[in-house]
This record gives sequence, C-alpha cells and structure tokens, in this order.
Amino acid sequence: IKVYVTDYEYATLEPEKRELDKIGAVMFPKQCKTEADVIRECKDANGLIDQYAPITRKVMEALPDLKVVGRYGVGVNTIDVDAATELGIQVLNVPDYCMDEVSNQAISLMLACHRKLNILNSQVHHHGWDYKIAKPIHRLQGQTLGLLGFGRIPKMVAQKAKAFGLNIIAYDPYVEPEVGLQYDVTILPLKDVLQKADIISVHVPLTKDTENLLNEQTLSWMKPEAIIINTSRGPLIDENALYHALKDKKIGYAGLDVTVQEPIQEDNPLLTLDNVMITPHVAWYSEEAELELKTKVAQGVADVLSG
Ligand code: NAD
Repeated sequence: IKVYVTDYEYATLEPEKRELDKIGAVMFPKQCKTEADVIRECKDANGLIDQYAPITRKVMEALPDLKVVGRYGVGVNTIDVDAATELGIQVLNVPDYCMDEVSNQAISLMLACHRKLNILNSQVHHHGWDYKIAKPIHRLQGQTLGLLGFGRIPKMVAQKAKAFGLNIIAYDPYVEPEVGLQYDVTILPLKDVLQKADIISVHVPLTKDTENLLNEQTLSWMKPEAIIINTSRGPLIDENALYHALKDKKIGYAGLDVTVQEPIQEDNPLLTLDNVMITPHVAWYSEEAELELKTKVAQGVADVLSG
C-alpha cells in the first residue's frame, strides 16, 4: 500500500509514518507544488495526504490506483471534491483538532483589541508611559459578544467568554434557538447581531454564500466602537471595506488571524493602521494540535486503505 504525502511544512512526518506502519503501508514524502508535480511524483499512489498541492480532476484521473485523499486541516479547498465523488475517491479532513486553540486565539484577540495592547506595548518600547493613549476603554463586563456561526469553535468561545461577564448572541441560520439557549446564547438574525454587539467574532465557514459576509453595508450596521475578530477565513470580510471602516472610525478595532491573501501582501493598507492586530493564521497551532492533526489524517487514510 503506497501513501504519498504530496507536500507538507512540518519538521517531521513521524506521526504519519507510525499510523501508516500499522497497516503495512509505505509512505513517500514529496514536495509537489503543481498538478504536474503530483501526477509525476505520485503515479502509483493508493492514498494521498495533501497540504497545499492542487488535487484536481486531472490529477485524480491520472492516478489509477487512488482510493483516498486526506487533507491536513479543516478545509478541503485544495481538492476537487465533486470530481473525487464521481471517481469513487474518498476525501477526508480533520475537523476537530484545534478547537481549544482557535477559541483561545479568538478570546486573546478580543482581549488584546479591547485593552489596545498593541498600542500600549508599542508605546513602552518607544520609552513612553502614558495610559491616556488607550482612551477610551469601557468595562468589558456586561458588554455583548456577537458570534457569526454557532458551530464547534464558537460554542467553546461562548463558554470561555461567559467568564468575562459578556452577554452572548449569535447568528447561525442552521442552528435552532433551543441549541443556543443550552449555552445561554440568543440566536438572532445577522442584522440584529451586528447592531447589538460590542464585539463580533467570525466563525462561519467560507462558501460562495459567505464570501464578503462582512462588506460595506453589513459593517455599517456595527457600533462605532465595535471590535471585529476573524479566526475563520479571510475572504469572509471585504478587506477594502474593513480598511475604510477602521480608518474612518466607523468601527473601533479588528483582530485578524486570517487575511484574504496569505501571507498578507506587504502593501496591504491594513498594515498602516494601529487599530488592527494581525496574526499569521496561527490560531490552530499548539504542539498538541499539530500532533493530533498529523495522527488523525494518517489514521483516516489508513482506515480507508485497510478497508
Ligand atoms: P463547524 O463546521 O463546527 O460550524 C460551522 C457553523 O457555521 C455551523 O453551525 C453552520 O450552521 C454555520 N454556518 C454555515 N453557513 C452559515 C452562514 N451562511 N451564516 C452563518 N452561519 C453559517 O465549524 P467550526 O469548527 O466552528 O470552525 C469554524 C471555522 O473556523 C472553520 O470554517 C474554519 O474556516 C475556521 N478555522 C480556522 C482555523 C485557524 O487556524 N485560523 C483553524 C480551524 C478552523
């Protein structure tokens, strides 16, 4: 049984090897960038484990023994899932390896934006010592957190945010209000959530329907001092509209772990604003989450290949 890792950015593939050894599969690590690389390097693959290499219809049609493609991470955007289904090839992702980490990143960004930590830290590094540059900050306790999406990660965010005395509301058209109530969260329409919340945290998946969910119009519904946090996917927010809303103080602050282009372009105007904090798509990461991700993707591929 042959499993090719099409590409990867990890220092070791030991966890993958451990899982594949259990079914007697041989693992071949590659660093493919293009369709042609995958077709050339992984010709006799029974399974693929993929990070960023494009697993298109053309690739899958060119690998006659392929039965399963596992993807490192939550999204399967590198894989043509429709073509895989037609060709009888299973596609696997790892949806639940980093809920603790992402919910903590969302909370960290919320608190850091609320307390304006980047501005204060930068001042001290430049030998300043004046609390007034952070004015105004209002007490967090009693403020309202609005969650966009109410899946696995925002449910954890809600549980953690309760400890800060936040009232929590959420928008998720596929979640019944009763499910919200189990978490002491009120499910409301999008416009209500954006109008009422002091902090918005974005957790919806990126689809054709959710791209630019936050745009010039929907951002204009938010409070002028509101904070917006995005740990989900960059294209959920129209970055140009976000830049103008932040620059013109139509909203207060943004904390982003994800951007439309990753890595962010050097000339992205968001980088000129001091009411923005950006981390490099790191919310998923801890040593434990990385190990779980690598183990689970290889386990999933091994399970399919061992029938
Ligand atoms: P999930 O699959 O558990 O939940 C998604 C929720 O979104 C569901 O409740 C669904 O009903 C809702 N939804 C779907 N379409 C919607 C719409 N149009 N409007 C509002 N809600 C909608 O997802 P999760 O585990 O909570 O993860 C959320 C997102 O976090 C993922 O989609 C992923 O993009 C992102 N993520 C980011 C990182 C990172 O490192 N930054 C890591 C893991 C996940």
